[in-house]
Amino acid sequence: METLIHLLYMLASVLFIIGIKRLSAVKTARSANAISAFAMLIAIVAAMMDIAHRSQIDWLWVGVGLVAGSAIGAYLALTVRMEGMPELVGFFNGMGGLASCLVAVSMSAFAWISWGETLSAETAASVTTVGVTSLPAAVLGAAQANAPRLTIDNAITVILSILVGGVTLTGSLIAWAKLKGVMRGAQIFLPGHQAINLALLLIVVVAGAAALFVVPLGSITLLYQLLAVAVVASFILGVTFAIPVGGADMPVVISLLNSFSGIAAAMTGFVLYNNLLIISGSLVGAAGMILTIIMCRGMNRSLANVLFARFSLTGTGEKEEYVNVKSGEPVDAAIALANANNVIIVPGYGLAAAQAQHAVRAMADLLEERGVNVRYAIHEVAGRMPGHMNVLLAEANVSYDQLFKREDIEADFKNSDVAMVIGANDVVNPAALVDENCPLYGMPILPAHEAQQAFVIKRSLAAGFAGMKNTLFESDRTLMVFGSAKEVVNGIIDELKEL
Ligand code: NAP
Repeated sequence: METLIHLLYMLASVLFIIGIKRLSAVKTARSANAISAFAMLIAIVAAMMDIAHRSQIDWLWVGVGLVAGSAIGAYLALTVRMEGMPELVGFFNGMGGLASCLVAVSMSAFAWISWGETLSAETAASVTTVGVTSLPAAVLGAAQANAPRLTIDNAITVILSILVGGVTLTGSLIAWAKLKGVMRGAQIFLPGHQAINLALLLIVVVAGAAALFVVPLGSITLLYQLLAVAVVASFILGVTFAIPVGGADMPVVISLLNSFSGIAAAMTGFVLYNNLLIISGSLVGAAGMILTIIMCRGMNRSLANVLFARFSLTGTGEKEEYVNVKSGEPVDAAIALANANNVIIVPGYGLAAAQAQHAVRAMADLLEERGVNVRYAIHEVAGRMPGHMNVLLAEANVSYDQLFKREDIEADFKNSDVAMVIGANDVVNPAALVDENCPLYGMPILPAHEAQQAFVIKRSLAAGFAGMKNTLFESDRTLMVFGSAKEVVNGIIDELKEL
């Protein structure tokens, strides 16, 4: 049986690795998702067999958990809107962190109880019914043989699980609240912010170590109190970690917390002696960290700068009034597009919000029939999640050959006749290039202002995610076409058909 379980663990690990590899290309991403989901099913079955093999298992609780979890997951998957995905991912990251934290706490308590040999037969029976004996045989064996409460390496992984799991939970909830608009995206700093962070970190480590090594026999209340202090301090640390990060930098934080949730899962794997958890957690940890680094590079910033830099809002701020803004109608855009040779479309969050991807594709088709060269410029942080625009345009069957990464197309804007900005704002804000006080400063942008003419489709002059004024809207070459993206693009299509 053990061999079969290990083979299943190995199979799941290999499928996870294949899945994550295939996720790196749009063409293979869909099958990658299916492969990874299948691997997760194998992992769950193997884990259940593993636990049942080693100890009694209360299948009723397992069944209740599976049904409730699957029902909640299915509901969320079926109802979430594309632009709500980052919040959902942030929330899932948080749940992963909470799970790691809970395992570490129950593991500490269980190891301590076993060590003290205070477990009466009756208590043991009741503990068994709630599934605690599913903890690793090695730990049970060590405890029963009256060995030290926990080995140093075990203790380190338990404390790291509490620390990383707790920070991931509350950090993700703050990220979720900022993305959902429950909290404002502005940076929040407390007096002596970094000193507070350091103090909280020390509290987690000291309280965790004291709980694991110092609490005398018979003082289980003290054990729980110290664990509670460690857990609460890690929760507060998650909040103080996430609140100073400004709205425009939230994608990086989501990605970093995703990486943390993987690291927390890997730590839990060490706590539970579960190789599959170590492998899958490491994959998530490494993938999240690589994405974080790619995003930081895309914004031309260091991770430390994203997490700790303080921006003054005296620059191109949201309160400043716009002057010399020119606006037009869909017919103006249609005429310019019909007469153009080269058109670059810049999609942004508003295109997703308006679900205008099919209309945009239809407009591009009409232009191509007229011989216009149409390309799409994809900024790495456009929308609300990495790859948002790729997924959206793929949904409308836009050819991959027409999608260009920022760095591959930015130099072509000055040679294009029309830049068509649809629901994008921050990713085309020229203030990011020149205004040192702008939170976007240093972020590479798509230079729509360099095209012969730029059209910007959005409903008003309202700011984008970063809350900043956009100097593109005041450019002599820019014409705003106000309205919801889908209606305006459909209006342009109607006009094009008339021309
Ligand atoms: P943006 O700066 O957030 O601007 C989106 C614009 O869309 C808004 O100014 C809004 O203006 C317009 N809009 C909203 N609904 C619309 C509709 N129905 N029709 C037409 N326009 C509509 O978007 P972005 O340029 O794509 O930049 C993304 C921002 O989000 C960046 O600051 C990025 O850092 C951040 N972010 C990115 C991610 C990620 O991973 N990609 C994750 C989280 C945050 P009106 O209200 O006037 O219409």
